[in-house]
Amino acid sequence: MEDQYHIIVVGGGTSGLMAAIQAAQQGAKVLIVEKNPVLGRKILLSGGGRCNVTNNTSLEQLIRHIPGNGAFLYGALSQFDQHAIIEFFQSLGVLLKEEDHGRMFPVTDRARTIVDALIDELDRLGVDYMTRTSVADIILEDDQVKGIITASGKTYCAKSVILSVGGRAYPRTGSSGDGYAWVRKAGHSVTRLYATESPLLSKDPFIVRRDLQGVSLRDVQITAWTSNQRIITQHRLDMIFTHFGFSGPAILRTSGHVNQYLYQSQESEVTLTIDLRPDQSVDELKAEAEKERDRQVSTIVRQWVPERLALFILKALDISPTTLYRQLTHGRVDDLMERLKGFPMTTTGSQPIEKGFVTGGGVNTDEVNPSTMASKKIQGLYLTGELLDINGYTGGYNITAAFVTGAVAGRHAAWNSF
Ligand SMILES: Cc1cc2nc3c(=O)[nH]c(=O)nc-3n(C[C@H](O)[C@H](O)[C@H](O)COP(=O)(O)OP(=O)(O)OC[C@H]3O[C@@H](n4cnc5c(N)ncnc54)[C@H](O)[C@@H]3O)c2cc1C
Repeated sequence: MEDQYHIIVVGGGTSGLMAAIQAAQQGAKVLIVEKNPVLGRKILLSGGGRCNVTNNTSLEQLIRHIPGNGAFLYGALSQFDQHAIIEFFQSLGVLLKEEDHGRMFPVTDRARTIVDALIDELDRLGVDYMTRTSVADIILEDDQVKGIITASGKTYCAKSVILSVGGRAYPRTGSSGDGYAWVRKAGHSVTRLYATESPLLSKDPFIVRRDLQGVSLRDVQITAWTSNQRIITQHRLDMIFTHFGFSGPAILRTSGHVNQYLYQSQESEVTLTIDLRPDQSVDELKAEAEKERDRQVSTIVRQWVPERLALFILKALDISPTTLYRQLTHGRVDDLMERLKGFPMTTTGSQPIEKGFVTGGGVNTDEVNPSTMASKKIQGLYLTGELLDINGYTGGYNITAAFVTGAVAGRHAAWNSF
């Protein structure tokens, strides 16, 4: 049967839409097959519905913020990087703005703007897409991909197939892990899947009692520790106490590392500490308090941390809030400082992968050409996005990885298909 398309892109999500556009811009005839009724469903949810399209940062910082195999992306980023993403959207008439930590959003603050622009470009380029169509399998013959079979049994053939089906996080957006069986069949290995960018669970009595539920902390430093007091990971951002444990950007960044450590060490929990005043040393805090030594200790601590946390800390240390600072012994002051610089808590790991924002693990990147995203096992097969063993922190890094791998796969698949 003659190929109807040069390229079939399986999955009309972040990386698949970019792959299709880049391939079509090279002149390829492209079909996208998407099981959802609409394209780009995860993009619509991303960045709190505003879509954090990329991060306006340096190459080194970008790679550093992709702890899951970021270095694999050097080859792709030399062809299409975070600045190319910004220019790409500008060329589609989408204006972007930069927010804190380099995060880039559409000026409309609507993810819909991004999805609409991508769909308009697909239409302009004449890309075909079928929604409500689930792919059941890929067709392989003599180490070559031949096409796909849909769940209703229809076959579509093409010279190249780009798998952009995502990982397993947030399956209600369509990324339910369908791709792993296909790539295994194609001879690829899939590294252990685990939740990243996921809230952390805790059985600490103060969490169970919900003493601090809803208390949020700005710009604190979270450290996760091994059982022999080595740092697993450290992040300075905001966090929040919840009814099940901890969440917020600093915790999300910590979560994948904690999950990996728990798996590798076979331990049941990890100790975390919060430095509630990361810009001040203990001596500086003591000097500041000393200037107000005739005031109540609760008044002083409330200047440093939210009131509920201040009262919680004093209660835990058995210090009456009405005690004057000067009445505290040196030992008690040291206890207080220790809590402020290293508020202790434990976690048993994160919420499951389905509730995390990003999948850790995926197709082994050693088996994928880093300059083209082509499979090293099957000719004509390309792999993009979260299906690969690549994961980044929130802040635009995952969407960047998806767009970059998608763009490179699309271009190379096109050049290889004529
Ligand atoms: C709530 C949320 C918020 C996020 N916010 C951000 C953010 O602000 N910044 C950031 O960088 N990252 C964010 N992320 C992560 C980021 O969205 C993903 O890493 C990225 O979208 C992955 O792109 P992808 O192309 O690999 O997969 P997806 O975008 O998930 O696309 C996969 C597509 O394949 C389709 N599909 C799957 N199986 C089949 C099949 N059998 N047949 C046909 N189609 C199929 C799916 O329906 C889906 O449309 C967020 C994630 C979530 C869940």
